[in-house]
Amino acid sequence: MGSVKDYFSNLGSGIASLLKGMQVTGKEFITPKITEKYPEDRETVHVPDRFRAILQLKYDADGNHKCIACGICERNCPNGTISLTTKMVDTFDGKKKRKLDKYQYDLGSCTFCQLCVTSCPQDALEFSNDFEQAVFTRDKLVKKLNYLPEKEEPAPTPEQIAKMQAEKEAKIAAAKAAMAAKKAAEAAAGNAAEGAEK
Ligand code: SF4
Ligand code: SF4
Repeated sequence: MGSVKDYFSNLGSGIASLLKGMQVTGKEFITPKITEKYPEDRETVHVPDRFRAILQLKYDADGNHKCIACGICERNCPNGTISLTTKMVDTFDGKKKRKLDKYQYDLGSCTFCQLCVTSCPQDALEFSNDFEQAVFTRDKLVKKLNYLPEKEEPAPTPEQIAKMQAEKEAKIAAAKAAMAAKKAAEAAAGNAAEGAEK
């Protein structure tokens, strides 16, 4: 008699367990999925904007970046991932200016700490969330970030030309005045010496 009672007791707990399992399965069945079917859903796959996939220079609509080749990002990178080559160019006002020649970035050694981005005084860097960066050899992970053709130094505006001309004339006038003052002082000193001799 006891075995019949145990039989139905076990049967009841088995059915309860089965229903509990089906409840969990049913709940998961209707819960929206958080996984992506990559690469089948490549066109619609959602990657959060803040995901750090690869470093890049920010370019404006005219294809200009804001890097001034100061080297702060290169010095702050803990992994030696960034390597800058710079060059000196002549500006329209006859001065020399340091410019970026090559911004080299090794994705293979980047730990995505973002120190380079946060320390850049020009806000010239950002991380792209373009995660498809797989390549077959490590050397292909070394990228040149200033990949767009370099723009010529901008021609001076009429206002800049007028300002340069005014500064030049002011310098000449100041030099002439200084020379005249020096001559006058020398003449005065000469006269004083003559007076003393008499
Ligand atoms: S990206 Fe920024 S920190 Fe790096 S060299 Fe250019 S301006 Fe300087
Ligand atoms: S994210 Fe970090 S490791 Fe990567 S280049 Fe920038 S500073 Fe270097």
